[in-house]
Amino acid sequence: MNPLPPRGPLPRRITQAVRVGGVIVGGGNPVVIQSMTNTDTVDDFATAMQVAQLARAGSEIVRITVNSREAAAAVPRVRERLQKMQMDVPLVGDFHFNGHKLLAEFPECARALDKLRINPGNVGKGSRRDEQFAQLIEIACKYDKPVRIGVNWGSLDQDLLARLMDDNARRPEPKDATELMREAMVTSALESAGRAVELGLPADHIILSCKVSGVQDLIAVYRELAARADYALHLGLTEAGMGSKGIVASTAALAPLLQEGIGDTIRISLTPEPGGDRSREVIVAQEILQTMGLRAFTPLVAACPGCGRTTSTYFQELAQEIQRYVRERMPQWRIDRIGVENMNLAVMGCVVNGPGESKLANIGISLPGTGEEPVAPVYVDGARVTTLRGEGIAAEFKQIIDDYVARKYPARL
Ligand code: SF4
Repeated sequence: MNPLPPRGPLPRRITQAVRVGGVIVGGGNPVVIQSMTNTDTVDDFATAMQVAQLARAGSEIVRITVNSREAAAAVPRVRERLQKMQMDVPLVGDFHFNGHKLLAEFPECARALDKLRINPGNVGKGSRRDEQFAQLIEIACKYDKPVRIGVNWGSLDQDLLARLMDDNARRPEPKDATELMREAMVTSALESAGRAVELGLPADHIILSCKVSGVQDLIAVYRELAARADYALHLGLTEAGMGSKGIVASTAALAPLLQEGIGDTIRISLTPEPGGDRSREVIVAQEILQTMGLRAFTPLVAACPGCGRTTSTYFQELAQEIQRYVRERMPQWRIDRIGVENMNLAVMGCVVNGPGESKLANIGISLPGTGEEPVAPVYVDGARVTTLRGEGIAAEFKQIIDDYVARKYPARL
């Protein structure tokens, strides 16, 4: 029989603690949420607005693309705009083939960023690669910036892959293509990190990632990375996809690793629906961490799935409305009160499980099922306190939540 999961706090793997602006990634600190803009960085207004939107949604670090001279020149303007909005969210510059040139030519870009992200497979080709990688690391050292060495299966260092394939072919029992791919990812990350350390970048300025789009590949690669080094790790399934597919795949990939204490910062790479909200990926990251009990961000509403005992959609609408309400109120509650993010709410569809589930929540309401008396008992901390009825149930329930927050959670001084 499988052992039961551990009780109490989940284990956390202790890694190097990396300071990214005002945020610490790794070292056993809470898992940090990050996201990435999809604006053209040259448009510093649109980019700053989207960074601010992501930060307000809960992104603790935001990455922006720096792919051209114009984009590098725009980075300090993005930073200035954020400062004017009093947003000090750490900014990461995403560099590829020309990063060494851009950072050398635009020192203000390097200064304005809190971290550099480089992909060892896209730093340069052939003999130029080592030289350009060294230039990037020297710039990171000069400006005291941490670096994420982000390996991606879609742009794996081809020279390294060819070397590993040659070595593999000489083995008495060669590894299969999947194993070889995983080994190449891990080797690329660790060799690049080792080279960065040789060049003078401290280990506590390095974060590693190895992003793939397959769930099992991601789990295997990160377990291997975690076993072989103590660098802080950035977790994320790349090209996770749209909608529920992206959410499910990301959750399936990240949850087992987080459960094992692997992962110091996460990003959920959701493809937004056309015209969709970019900050959805931040909410999903929060929900993964909160439902796993790793962090708390906003009160979550438990709701029953509904069944033949309730033909009304009212309880679903109420659950949605209450979740939206507490999410909207949370920024102010966070400023005013201590601990509101841990509050649990329940909105249930009938009396079968409704009262029981309501009693387990801080505040729960059980709506009437089909044929039941048209009343909605409300429970606060396990005790029935009132019964709501009629048109004003939603407004009265919100008032009960507000009163509870004011009474239960201490004011910040
Ligand atoms: S609480 Fe009632 S309505 Fe909701 S799923 Fe259970 S039995 Fe069905």
